[in-house]
Amino acid sequence: MSEAVRQVVSHPAAGAATARAFAAYSPTTDLAPFTIPRRAAGPQDVQIEILYCGVCHSDLHTVRNEWESAMPTIYPCVPGHEIVGRVVKTGSEVKKFKAGDLAAVGCMVDSCRVCASCRADLEQYCENGMTLTYNGQDKHLGGVTYGGYSDSIVVDEAFVLSVSPKLPLAGVAPLLCAGITTYSPLRHWNVGKGQKVGIVGLGGLGHMGVKFANAFGAHVVLFTTSPNKTADALRLGAHEVVISKNEAELQKHAGSFDFILDAVSAEHDLNTYLKLLRRDGTLTLIGAPEKPLPVAAFSLLVGRHNVAGSCIGGIRETQEMLDFCAERGITSDIEMIRIQQINGAYQRLLKSDVKYRFVIDMASLKQ
Ligand code: NAP
Ligand code: ZN
Repeated sequence: MSEAVRQVVSHPAAGAATARAFAAYSPTTDLAPFTIPRRAAGPQDVQIEILYCGVCHSDLHTVRNEWESAMPTIYPCVPGHEIVGRVVKTGSEVKKFKAGDLAAVGCMVDSCRVCASCRADLEQYCENGMTLTYNGQDKHLGGVTYGGYSDSIVVDEAFVLSVSPKLPLAGVAPLLCAGITTYSPLRHWNVGKGQKVGIVGLGGLGHMGVKFANAFGAHVVLFTTSPNKTADALRLGAHEVVISKNEAELQKHAGSFDFILDAVSAEHDLNTYLKLLRRDGTLTLIGAPEKPLPVAAFSLLVGRHNVAGSCIGGIRETQEMLDFCAERGITSDIEMIRIQQINGAYQRLLKSDVKYRFVIDMASLKQ
């Protein structure tokens, strides 16, 4: 698509500014430059210059419209929900932020704020639907929300997180999705000392799962399809590594896990892992593969096993997680890329070739 056509697609409303961005124009074409509207900061808004944005496998699922039945993708789509940057401007009623502060935005930018879930600080389960950072409904400008593969964003203060200057900023970006999505279920299911915990898949989410499960004091076993990630898994905090294609190795762990966190992005056999749970153990899915994953009844009946799911985390818990990371010096292991390398990074994600999160240096948008 020519630059002239791209400009026509965006419609900045009165009072809004434009921002540079990268967008997917269809499920099958490469991401390319795009100009998007951003609203002028209202009284409760924080305007942020985006410095870094992590690359989540959800960006790739969305760009390719793999979640069409649950949430169809609206094109052009600007992904990105692991956003960190610097506050440029604040509205007159904003209390927590001032210009120059570091700030972050994760997977949601609003919710109804009045339902039982919102009142319980679980906005990700908002009964009227949270507003996703991208591919959501833009309540202010109309149309669709655009994410962090851009140079600026304007977000209501209630959905903006504080970032400690103690941590390397680029490594903080992935905490906004990969971090909270693993922290929240490990906390919810009370993972800690004396427990044996499995993490399945050493990608962006999985490597944060290993770090948190270790920090919470559990005995951590990492399951991977990639033998070449073994040394890294041990360095990141796993106590044992199991190559999941090796049946004999899996057998050694039968009936022994209190909790397993499954962070795999593609089709795989859940029954393999359900059999490794002890009585009343739980396997929680955080990975969201395109196709359904069959569960055999006997994988659950024998041992009274539970299979569960978990979606990101609420704003209060996300801030708690960021503060925990600042205190413990925890960040994501990242590989920095320029925005122009995004299509190659997606190809590598599909091959499980990620160590362990791509983060876009947003200064590259100007190139
Ligand atoms: P990622 O960085 O691409 O990591 C996925 C990992 O899964 C790979 O590195 C690989 O680990 C393993 N894997 C890939 N294909 C596999 C296969 N066919 N069989 C077995 N293992 C395979 O992805 P991510 O960003 O961590 O995201 C993981 C999933 O979580 C995605 O589906 C994403 O959409 C979803 N997600 C969910 C939430 C939520 O709220 N629940 C939030 C964010 C993301 P090994 O090389 O170690 O095998
Ligand atoms: Zn994500």
